[in-house]
Amino acid sequence: MPFDQWLEERLDKTKQAGLYRQMRTMQEAPQSSMLVEEKRQLIFSSNDYLGLAGHSRLIDAAAEVLREFGAGSSGSRLLTGNTVWHEKLEDRLAAFKQTEAALLFSSGYLANIGVLSSLPEKEDVLLSDRLNHASIIDGCRLSKADTVIYNHVDMDDLREKLEQTVSYNRRFIVTDGVFSMDGTIAPLDQMMELAARYEAFVIVDDAHATGVLGESGRGTSEYFGITPDVTIGTLSKAAGTEGGFAAGSKTLIDFLLNHSRPFIFQTAVPPASCAASVAALQIMEKQKERREQLMTYVTRVKRSLTNLGFQLTGDETPIIPVLIGDVEQAGRFTKKLEEQGIYAPAIRPPTVPAGESRIRLTVTAAHDSGDVDKLITAFHEIGEELNLI
Ligand SMILES: *Cc1c(COP(=O)(O)O)cnc(C)c1O
Repeated sequence: MPFDQWLEERLDKTKQAGLYRQMRTMQEAPQSSMLVEEKRQLIFSSNDYLGLAGHSRLIDAAAEVLREFGAGSSGSRLLTGNTVWHEKLEDRLAAFKQTEAALLFSSGYLANIGVLSSLPEKEDVLLSDRLNHASIIDGCRLSKADTVIYNHVDMDDLREKLEQTVSYNRRFIVTDGVFSMDGTIAPLDQMMELAARYEAFVIVDDAHATGVLGESGRGTSEYFGITPDVTIGTLSKAAGTEGGFAAGSKTLIDFLLNHSRPFIFQTAVPPASCAASVAALQIMEKQKERREQLMTYVTRVKRSLTNLGFQLTGDETPIIPVLIGDVEQAGRFTKKLEEQGIYAPAIRPPTVPAGESRIRLTVTAAHDSGDVDKLITAFHEIGEELNLI
């Protein structure tokens, strides 16, 4: 069979299953409302929780360093790619996360791959939440250790699995801090207790918690008052820039620098991007009101949609999944939202389990209260129209 025909047939199956994906084209910088393929849409699906991606201080910081240091980094961190800006960012990240040290990766995806593929050894086991992010799942696959899955945030199941895995050398519990598709906060206080009792290590991916949870936005560690062995994070969500990181002890960072392949073999992110991230962290730490604004929207949207009769999942986080169930119904919902000028794509399998298709709303500090009104009105109308409420 010719190459393209073979691929066409496989794509047809994807289409028949209602799972065909396509990209949309944004014609503006990230903000609460954007021009999407010539039509203005209120954006309720961005991860730019604090509204920093288009912030002038980040842009100015990046522009200045772009002129001074150039467009690219010219090599991996261990060759010619390491600049004062990479180091400055890592110092700031460590201070922000209140750890001894931090190590920058090109993305959060690669930070997970880099940590999970290098830390556990062959005789070890990874205990992974069923709904962990794809990059954790891929990291587990690349690890030499075995992986055991426990039910989503189910601490009884985790305890059982810890008991069943005593024969392994070392055990690592790995979890999203805030689950990206469900908005659940992992019960890290309980998890740390279990880890202490069963002598396991804890790895937390704080992608969606960084900048959002805790008094100063430091993430789940601050929210729960805990110190995991490894914290992973990304700058691509609330910080509004790009790059991933691992934070922990100096020894951990030294180990990753020596053993983590995505760190060693990848070209460093451009210094200008580091400068934007440094500016983002400064704003995050100082401007508590952005987080407060964000959380008032979270509370309001969750309460209003629940009162309307929608089924929501998750805890008090800016990720607000509205369960629709059927793949096609979710597609219809999204389409109708878009007709009303609201951009909130449906999340479908395999990103979420079959039968659990949802509209994954996110609110940001950049929205205003009129935007939130429009969202709630649209959900009311479309929910009734599709007999969902
Ligand atoms: C987005 C996300 C990542 C990936 O981060 P990038 O910087 O976008 O690669 C990793 N883990 C979780 C939980 C995420 O939501």
